[in-house]
Amino acid sequence: MSAHVINGKELVGAYRAEIKQQVERLAAQGVKPGLAVVIVGDDPASHVYVRNKNKACEEAGIHSEVYKLAEETQESELLALIAKLNADEAIHGILVQSPLPGHINEERVVEAIAVEKDVDCFHPMNVGNLMIGKPGPSPCTPAGVIEILKKVGVEIAGKHAVVIGRSNIVGKPMGILLLRENATVTVCHSRTKDLAVITSQADILVAAIGKPKVIKREHVKPGAVVIDVGVNRLDTGKLSGDVDFDDVVDTAGIITPVPGVVGPMTITILLRNTLEAAERAAGVRASS
Ligand code: NAP
Repeated sequence: MSAHVINGKELVGAYRAEIKQQVERLAAQGVKPGLAVVIVGDDPASHVYVRNKNKACEEAGIHSEVYKLAEETQESELLALIAKLNADEAIHGILVQSPLPGHINEERVVEAIAVEKDVDCFHPMNVGNLMIGKPGPSPCTPAGVIEILKKVGVEIAGKHAVVIGRSNIVGKPMGILLLRENATVTVCHSRTKDLAVITSQADILVAAIGKPKVIKREHVKPGAVVIDVGVNRLDTGKLSGDVDFDDVVDTAGIITPVPGVVGPMTITILLRNTLEAAERAAGVRASS
């Protein structure tokens, strides 16, 4: 039997409408959430991501500012802009689009962002808070995956969740969020032996590998929920996930297509984080 293929337009559209309403409620109290997005250099894919984030903000009623800096921008100039945005009361979230040019130290840039405005959840303080379960921003992609699971009614507690990938922005925080939802979590990576033996035990399988179509039918337990985080550009120019969709669709119970679900949900969590940062700044949301 063919899997239920998650409809991203419907799912994400409904969630963005909810967030828009919350933004309107906050605006009625005199607070308009604001996001500043900074991009350095000319990477075409990054410019597309920034445009999408800006458009999503506008549609949700969130004030959005985009700062486009030249490739040769010095780190000191970028840090000065971040300091200015940290002090700007109209800005509740700051996102510096990666990758940054090689002459800029990404770690120093991330740590320069005020902890309460770090809507990407990349600052070490927020990563630590996430680890110990304190309130704060959610890492956008992993939190988006949790939201997708909840919105399609997948019970997470007690399930065996297998995450493939252990990056700081997807795999590791994904494991922590699944643990927080009381899943039993296994994290696999490039040195994992017999990957298919492990992944085929998963009730929930999250692929965040960054290589096209690695996950085939033999990696998937019949009826499993398969969430594909990967975004890979094929030689044909088309996008592909880390999962071989056509091979897996008859084995999985629920599956996300690429593109269309995890990407848009990631941006939606960014909107939610910006809204929540504005609520905390206005004192209408409890902080730690
Ligand atoms: P990354 O930093 O390159 O990490 C990839 C992870 O996959 C690593 O932990 C690596 O293991 C593991 N891996 C690589 N090959 C493997 C294999 N054959 N078997 C098992 N594990 C393997 O990538 P990332 O930043 O986490 O991103 C992963 C994918 O998600 C990419 O396609 C990226 O474009 C996509 N992504 C999408 C969104 C979105 O919004 N939709 C957001 C973020 C990322 P080692 O640690 O051992 O090297």
